[in-house]
Amino acid sequence: MSAHQDFIPGNELYVSTFDKGHLPLPPSKKVAVVTCMDARIEPATQLGINLGEAHVIRNAGGSAKEALRSVVISQRLLGTREVAVFHHTDCGMLTFTNEQLHDKVKAEAPGNAAVAAAVDAIDFLPFSQLEESVKEDVKFLKENPLLLEGTNLTGWVYDVTTGKVQRVV
Ligand SMILES: [Zn+2]
Repeated sequence: MSAHQDFIPGNELYVSTFDKGHLPLPPSKKVAVVTCMDARIEPATQLGINLGEAHVIRNAGGSAKEALRSVVISQRLLGTREVAVFHHTDCGMLTFTNEQLHDKVKAEAPGNAAVAAAVDAIDFLPFSQLEESVKEDVKFLKENPLLLEGTNLTGWVYDVTTGKVQRVV
């Protein structure tokens, strides 16, 4: 039994009431949300975002650095003018260092030079201070020359235990 076996019945249910096939490509609220891939996060429901209103860019930790490619596409090609960065409590990114993950991957492929070189080349972008990491990511975007001038930038923390969001910057 694989998780993907639930996709077709789940989708059939969705399609049975789907009536949003007319939406245009650019997000109507002109906002891009950068957030974590954490399974407890559901930005649309948690932030009151409807289909077609926002870009949601997700990766491990909600890293603005990793999201930059998507943010540039979002702004330059699809008209967004606001970026909101969300990190969250109990994030996996708070639990390891680059060195630890590098060592773990290498230990799982002993003597494999290709694996060692490939993993050592990756900065997994872990962080140790939650609010500080949000501020750093907002600062990274603010100072990035590729970001459009006048972009409305905010930074937030989402609490996975209460479901509440709090603005940090
Ligand atoms: Zn996370």
